[in-house]
Amino acid sequence: MRKITGAKSLYCTSEIFFRELINNASNALDKIEFESHTNKNILDDGLIRLIPHKANKTLSIIDTGIGMTRADLAYNLGVGFYSTYLIANKVIVTSKHNDHDQYIWKSQPGASFIVAKDINAQQPSRGTNITLFLEDN
Ligand code: ADP
Repeated sequence: MRKITGAKSLYCTSEIFFRELINNASNALDKIEFESHTNKNILDDGLIRLIPHKANKTLSIIDTGIGMTRADLAYNLGVGFYSTYLIANKVIVTSKHNDHDQYIWKSQPGASFIVAKDINAQQPSRGTNITLFLEDN
């Protein structure tokens, strides 16, 4: 996906996290699309959904891309993902990679996180759900 940058958007925090997450989702869709060329068992149904929940003050960014393994969740998330903390005080990620169980990543107080098998997972569904619990302002 092409990055759209401009002097204004560079300094707008709500656009930074949004651009990072949509970029990641789009890359994840590209990766599964690429794999579907050589693996006929892979259904390439590329989709990114944005689900706001006003009462709960959450925003979910959901993609049907390649998904993340437990190791991806524990070690790969970087500056792009952590930019969500510019606008969220809590983040929950659930992700399912084709050949793996679904895992859940949760931030904990004190800048730490846990990664655990998601016992509420409704199998089989591939991809990633990032739910942001938004700051009051
Ligand atoms: P960086 O800014 O270093 O790229 P990110 O947090 O944006 O860090 O992403 C780090 C890595 O996490 C990505 O390269 C990708 O492997 C993985 N990742 C992030 N979001 C997703 C997603 N929605 N689906 C699959 N993998 C993802």
